[in-house]
Order: sequence, then structure tokens, then C-alpha cells
Amino acid sequence: MAKVTITFDNGPEPQITHNVLDVLARHDIKTSFYVIGHKLENEEGRTAALRAKSEGHWIGNHSYSHSVSLGASDDPHIYDIEVTKSQEIIGDLSHPDRLFRPFCNAGIIDHRVFKRDHISRLAEDGYTCVMFNAVTGDWADREGWVARGIAEIESRPWTTLVLHDIAGWPDGTQTGSMERLDEFISLVRDSGHEILQELDPDCIPMRCGELIKSMDDLVN
Ligand SMILES: [Zn+2]
Repeated sequence: MAKVTITFDNGPEPQITHNVLDVLARHDIKTSFYVIGHKLENEEGRTAALRAKSEGHWIGNHSYSHSVSLGASDDPHIYDIEVTKSQEIIGDLSHPDRLFRPFCNAGIIDHRVFKRDHISRLAEDGYTCVMFNAVTGDWADREGWVARGIAEIESRPWTTLVLHDIAGWPDGTQTGSMERLDEFISLVRDSGHEILQELDPDCIPMRCGELIKSMDDLVN
């Protein structure tokens, strides 16, 4: 039996997020949603995030625009926009520990994630940095993601899995992958694995501004 913390990135996308919330409620599962700030600037997006919070899910910050790795940008204001502005928009929907998950280009964790200065600012601002150890490519591959997700869970004692409450590719091509979420959760449970809301400490290099473990591998 393994543990899995399921997390959702890149939403909210109103209809998809509501469908995901329906499935989670049916299975009595609490998760966390790492939202893109600009998607909360319209009422439908904010309503979906509000519903997630009111149903016991945690809301974290997944950047304002989700368009650039902080460590790969030379814009001196990139942190103010992607982290601070997004956090302000999320406002009181935020988990009290100020969960922040950085933009990683299609799930690649490397030196482009932050600049050293961003680590200092995250610490000053009291953020909790939430990383992950498994992606399934769900947004791109309706056929394959469920089996890959199960294989990831069975490959380690505790998996922090990233799924996406979005319709498909950023260009608008729809894959409908979250229509298989119910099947995925049933498979996880039927295999005896435990689904947790709690975050695996191995994926939390910073908690409430305190550096827990080195973030050197994330720094440009
Ligand atoms: Zn993302």
C-alpha cells in the first residue's frame, strides 16, 4: 500500500473544476488546487475556487500568468507579478500557510524554477513551497494518464501527484482527461492505496518561510 497526495494545477476552468469537485465529493476526498491568478479575475473562475475552498480543499498560488519560469526571466518585477499579484488576487481563498507552487515547464524541476533572490523573497513573505514528484501528462493524453498515474503511485511510498483541472492543451485542443478522474480514483482505492490531503514533507523545501531543505537544485 502506498500513499498519494493528489493535487490539481492550472485551473480553475469553471466547468472542468466543477466536474472535478463533484467527483472528489462523491469519493469524499480532499485535495489542493494550485490556481493561476489571472483565472480568478473573472467571476466564474473565482466562484469555482471558492467552491473548492468551501468544500475543504486547499487553495495555493500557481503564478499569475503561468507563462514563464521565474528563474529564466530577466524581468526585475517578475516575482511581484507572478507571486505577489497572484497571491493578492487569491486573497482570503488562500491556505493560511501561503502555498506556492512554481511554474515548471511541463513538469520539469530544474535550475530554471527560481533565481536565488526569489527564494529569499518567498522566505520573507512566509510562503510554503509545494513541489511534486509525479506528473502524468494528463492534459495531453486522455488514454495514457490513468495507467501512468497508478504506476507512479506504486513506484514510491508517498507520491505527490500533479493533475490538471483544465480542458486540455493551452491552445484550446480539448482532451477531456478529467472525465477519467472517477475511474482513476476508484483504481487507486481498489488497489489499497491511501489518498491524503496532507503534503509529503519531501516535496516541501520551504514551510511558512522557513527553509526546510536546500533549494539549490531549483535555482538559476
Ligand atoms: Zn502548471
